[in-house]
Amino acid sequence: MYINENFIKLPQSYLFSTVAAKLKEYRAKHPDADLIRMDIGDVTLPIAPCVVEAMHRAVDDMASAETFHGYGPEQGYPFLREAIATTDYQNRGIDISADDIFISDGAKSDLGNLGNIYSKKSIIGVADPGYPVYVDSSVMDGRGGELLPDGRWSRILYMDCLPENGFKPAVPERGVDVLFLCSPCNPTGTVFTRDELTRWVEYARRNKTLIIYDSAYEAFVQDPEIPRSIYEIEGAKEVAIEVRSFSKTAGFTGLRCGYTVVPKELKGYDREGNEYPLHQLWNRRQSTKFNGASYIIQRGAEALYTPEGREAIKKNIDIYLSNARYIRQAMEKAGFEVFGGENSPYVWVKRRGEEDSWKLFEKILHEAEVSSTPGIGFGECGAGYIRLTGFNSPENTHKAMERVSKIKFDDASEATENFTAFNDVKNIKAIDVLDDLTEKLGL
Ligand SMILES: *Cc1c(COP(=O)(O)O)cnc(C)c1O
Repeated sequence: MYINENFIKLPQSYLFSTVAAKLKEYRAKHPDADLIRMDIGDVTLPIAPCVVEAMHRAVDDMASAETFHGYGPEQGYPFLREAIATTDYQNRGIDISADDIFISDGAKSDLGNLGNIYSKKSIIGVADPGYPVYVDSSVMDGRGGELLPDGRWSRILYMDCLPENGFKPAVPERGVDVLFLCSPCNPTGTVFTRDELTRWVEYARRNKTLIIYDSAYEAFVQDPEIPRSIYEIEGAKEVAIEVRSFSKTAGFTGLRCGYTVVPKELKGYDREGNEYPLHQLWNRRQSTKFNGASYIIQRGAEALYTPEGREAIKKNIDIYLSNARYIRQAMEKAGFEVFGGENSPYVWVKRRGEEDSWKLFEKILHEAEVSSTPGIGFGECGAGYIRLTGFNSPENTHKAMERVSKIKFDDASEATENFTAFNDVKNIKAIDVLDDLTEKLGL
């Protein structure tokens, strides 16, 4: 048999393994190092008690013939689809119904698998820097073309995200078939405003583009003016699929559950120009290749829609956001250029005059014992940047920022203020919340 040669074309992603190797090397050389991980791309707070209890009950259901659950619906259980439709959409004035929603085992699977329902010849548009799954899964499906010397693929349209455009992709001049958009964005932490998102929806309607809208971080949006769903924009149901996850919102990274909205109004076309509802295609794909997310996990996710669940999500998010805000302020005061970190757990950081992400990574590692993620790993436009995350504990976040603020850089942008004067009040609240949470869980 012949292999899918697209896999050979795809270079290894060295980002996270190289970071891990460099941290390991540092620890080996400095056995007493008190390394603080500010590169964490995973949540750290535990699952809410109401979710844990719901899952315990679901396990017990499995133990007797009357309440046992075998194969569930491939689209997900109605109890969860309805809770999502009501709470995440209808109560916010968005007209999405339970049967537009497909429960998944996480957003990453669906972001990759959606490629099954559009043509192999589709031209893909992505923001650079961006979440690597969009490009890599497109390449695996044969939509990359050739890898160019600059590390980009010949058939993919890259939309540069730079300080000039506030790290937000500009609407391209040409049409593309499928556009990946992410807001709040991983890695830059930026968010689309209502006007910007409206321009994307208009672009998609004009060009018959399918938008795959990754809103894995929607729960981090605090500003009421910032849309949390693309369906807040008029006409979006005819052009957009929305992919969401309980991972970052509710600590489900290890439990695995998310959902994808494919509105019944959304159409694709064959070569003769005939219309087909994508809902039908995705339903067919899921029924064939997916046997549903676990009953136990779906019961756990359902508990997130109770008042206790809502409260638990809010507490987690408040802690991560307060960390991100702290990072943002501390890095700015220490003379860095800082983006994101306001409606997002991610802070995107640069030192003026330093164009090499790895050098900045090394300097902060060696002089502050703080780890970060080199921005270049997320795309060419990430060169010079590092990503810091709000997922560590408030205590560690504070300690890390204090250390980073003491690093000496030989550029003009020195710290603007004495850092010790900066110990802000908001974060005390976050620590209290954390204590409260650990106490409840009996830790
Ligand atoms: C973490 C992440 C996901 C994947 O989430 P899972 O549901 O855990 O698969 C998707 N998109 C972005 C941008 C992410 O950062």
